[in-house]
Amino acid sequence: MHVYGPGAEWTFRAPQTTGRQATVIATALALLALGSAIAAAITDPRLPTPNQWQITGVLAVVAALGLVTGRFFGPTRDGSGPPWDVHTIWLLPAAMLTPPAAFGCLVALSVITDLRKSEHQFQLRMVVVSITVTTTAAIHAAALLIADFALAGLVGIAALWVIGCIVAIAVAYVFVTPNGTALWLDYRWSLVLFGCAVSGLLIAAAIRSDAPIGFTALAPLLLAQFALRWPELTRFARIDSKTGLPNSQHWDERSRRLLSAAEFHRTPAYVLMVDLDRFKSVNDTFGHLAGDQVLAEVSALLRSRIAPGDLLGRFGGEEFVVTLFDRSPADALAVADHIRTAIAEQPHLLAHITTDAAREPGTALCTVSCSIGLASAAHCGYDLTKLLECADRALADAKSAGRDQVRAVGATAGGTSRLRGNDERSAAERPEAVTVWNVAAGGLSRTPHLHP
Ligand code: GH3
Ligand code: MG
Ligand code: MG
Repeated sequence: MHVYGPGAEWTFRAPQTTGRQATVIATALALLALGSAIAAAITDPRLPTPNQWQITGVLAVVAALGLVTGRFFGPTRDGSGPPWDVHTIWLLPAAMLTPPAAFGCLVALSVITDLRKSEHQFQLRMVVVSITVTTTAAIHAAALLIADFALAGLVGIAALWVIGCIVAIAVAYVFVTPNGTALWLDYRWSLVLFGCAVSGLLIAAAIRSDAPIGFTALAPLLLAQFALRWPELTRFARIDSKTGLPNSQHWDERSRRLLSAAEFHRTPAYVLMVDLDRFKSVNDTFGHLAGDQVLAEVSALLRSRIAPGDLLGRFGGEEFVVTLFDRSPADALAVADHIRTAIAEQPHLLAHITTDAAREPGTALCTVSCSIGLASAAHCGYDLTKLLECADRALADAKSAGRDQVRAVGATAGGTSRLRGNDERSAAERPEAVTVWNVAAGGLSRTPHLHP
């Protein structure tokens, strides 16, 4: 299935770091972090000067403000955000400009914050905080070694930091998440991390040359938290929240791209327009919340029935669209009819009965049929607008011919054709498009005359 909804293309969930191997690696990295912290404390036991305390104090205040702004601008705590924060911006200057007794406070703040992200697995959080501690200690060591804190020193420190991070992340990537879905290697996250690191370096340089300017420059960086919402916002822009399917615009863009490729390779393509029958009566009978539930359940069903490489989207209202590729006309028709029967047979257990038909609040089972218009590129061209027009025309034919059927343009010669195997009864003989059973009255009884 090529549902680029919560699919591979934009799943930002943290990798599942289960198993003994993950625990062993997380423990090893934690020990490495502990070792780095002890080494830093032993090699540089200096007590901070008043000036260094001042720097630490300001950075701590900004870090605390960062945590507060993170509550408003940071990612939702549903596991879709990264397991780390933008602490590098404050940790890096602290590690470069103050001794462990001072910057250790900031590291502790960062570790506590990241450890508390309970939406992520414990091993993953351990790995993240271990990397934070190790790299911060390494940066401090580098700053000590490079006595003259000039540009060359900055570059040297940055290089050391990058190398340290790459090694630590590679270890975590290879051993902790052997499935290759390591969150932190996603290029978007890497970009955010890189931006934070560079900001931290610049802040360190600014504080060193002119403390007030350096501290002022920290203020706008509070908004860096916003960058962590990137994938969430991208997802909002592409996914229809009610059904979890790609929205019309996203489906349109993807379909146009793949249709151009299909035209170039002269491979078949089709567009299906699926419209639920008499959906208004579902709303009128059970209420709009129940209508929404049906839409979500039909969407989940469609998702499970669409093959890899095909594109599914919510066109709007109670209409769905599917783009099919690489199929014979007969296969495309079969897919359409498979979708039609699957939707018609899907029971919906509705709890929101609000209107006359069911009188008493309770639970009811409901099935909803659909009509489908199918357009083939061989007949209508590869332009999506043309394909949609054709599919819409076929859909209108399906509706006027009695609903609960597939009509195709271009699957057979001339006009629209009705798919064999559909209910051949006349509209008057056909059952109501929405069939309702009351389950409350002990057993199933059908509610008659829903559509007089
Ligand atoms: P037809 O068989 O001719 O398609 O009949 P219909 O009732 O499905 O079509 P109509 O266009 O008359 O009504 C569409 C209904 O779909 C009306 C609207 O309330 C409902 N609808 C559209 N979007 C949503 C939604 O997001 N949630 C709910 N609950 N209902 C919706
Ligand atoms: Mg409609
Ligand atoms: Mg409809």
